[in-house]
Amino acid sequence: MFPFHGVDYLEIDGLFNDQEKLVRQTVREFVDREVLPGIEEWNREGKFPRHLVPLMAELGFFGANLEGYGCAGMSNVEYGLIMQELERGDSGLRSFVSVQGALVMYPIHAYGSAEQRQRWLPALQEGTAIGCFGLTEPDFGSNPAGMRTRAQKDGDHYILNGEKAWITSGSIADVALVWARTDEGIRGFLVEKGAPGFTSKDIKGKWSLRASVTSSLSLEDVRLPASDMLPGALGLRAALSCLTQARYGIGWGALGSAMACYHEALEYAKARKQFDDKPIASHQLIQAKFADMITEITKAQLLALQVGRLKDRGRADFAHVSMLKRNNVRMALEVARAARDILGANGVADEYPIFRHMCNLESVFTYEGTHSIHTLIIGERVTGIPAYK
Ligand SMILES: Cc1cc2nc3c(=O)[nH]c(=O)nc-3n(C[C@H](O)[C@H](O)[C@H](O)COP(=O)(O)OP(=O)(O)OC[C@H]3O[C@@H](n4cnc5c(N)ncnc54)[C@H](O)[C@@H]3O)c2cc1C
Repeated sequence: MFPFHGVDYLEIDGLFNDQEKLVRQTVREFVDREVLPGIEEWNREGKFPRHLVPLMAELGFFGANLEGYGCAGMSNVEYGLIMQELERGDSGLRSFVSVQGALVMYPIHAYGSAEQRQRWLPALQEGTAIGCFGLTEPDFGSNPAGMRTRAQKDGDHYILNGEKAWITSGSIADVALVWARTDEGIRGFLVEKGAPGFTSKDIKGKWSLRASVTSSLSLEDVRLPASDMLPGALGLRAALSCLTQARYGIGWGALGSAMACYHEALEYAKARKQFDDKPIASHQLIQAKFADMITEITKAQLLALQVGRLKDRGRADFAHVSMLKRNNVRMALEVARAARDILGANGVADEYPIFRHMCNLESVFTYEGTHSIHTLIIGERVTGIPAYK
């Protein structure tokens, strides 16, 4: 593990203000101090580092770009930099923060009643409550419109039945935002841990995001008061708007993984000697790999920053965010694979962080809209023709 001081080929730092750089530095130090010393062990053991939740809450990571209820009210660029630095530590940790803020706090903030906001937002911000977001089902991933989970109205209650799959933080969540079909359309329900008929089970055997909890949720005749439904969220559009928030953070987060892999490979290549006692960094084919890596990271940094600035001006929409998520995650995966190659055999050992990042990025490539689904979103934006079916 070599000390990290950022990756900046094109003086992109000059495009950030002092406050943004301060946020970045704070998270960078947090990751160096609290995450990197333990992450390989947590990853090996498949253990979520729960003890970091209060520390991250204190630093304002949860719902950082939301206003009120104890939230930090940061800009979207500051929020993006938090995601970048956290993912330099581990994509699983960043996933936890993304879900808590963008997929649970954001919808309660945007679509919840005054009581729901008061009840959940301060607790989620302080990390005394954990949330999860249940959209995906065993048979419906890329096409959540087909979901089978149903909420049947029964007087002033709803009765929920269905299964959700691949839910980050599912079994550790105090509250699950579950999306279900009703007679009026798809709606979001806040289901509390311990509600009769509501159970969760962890998905074991993941080779990716091992330091993050991923679970299945089961709902069997779960009876909820109608006041547990988000009143402002009607239709799949509301659920997708939450995904746009999370995908935005992922676009920045992927940069963190890419920077970690690039940096590690560069330091390694300068130290590792092969052929005539020369560092492998002096060989042309290795330099070509670094030229590609730094060029792609730099382009991705500019893309993230532009989408962030647009978002801060209220001008970023879901198709802009698709380009950010799609490009930056693929870029990070390619950088991780090239970095793995540069480390030779050491690249497959968890003494170095690269293989872990590479495996994590396989999930990041798939979740929050697969790479192909984002291709179709961009394709629809430029041609005006939807090609999903
Ligand atoms: C670690 C992890 C954590 C997750 N956390 C959450 C969570 O917290 N909450 C949640 O709700 N979900 C979560 N997910 C689920 C994730 O969002 C889904 O896996 C994702 O949407 C893809 O769905 P699927 O896995 O069912 O793949 P499928 O939809 O079955 O897709 C399989 C393949 O087919 C391709 N494909 C599908 N449709 C088309 C098409 N029209 N044209 C071209 N190609 C297509 C896809 O791109 C993909 O390559 C998580 C997943 C993982 C791996």
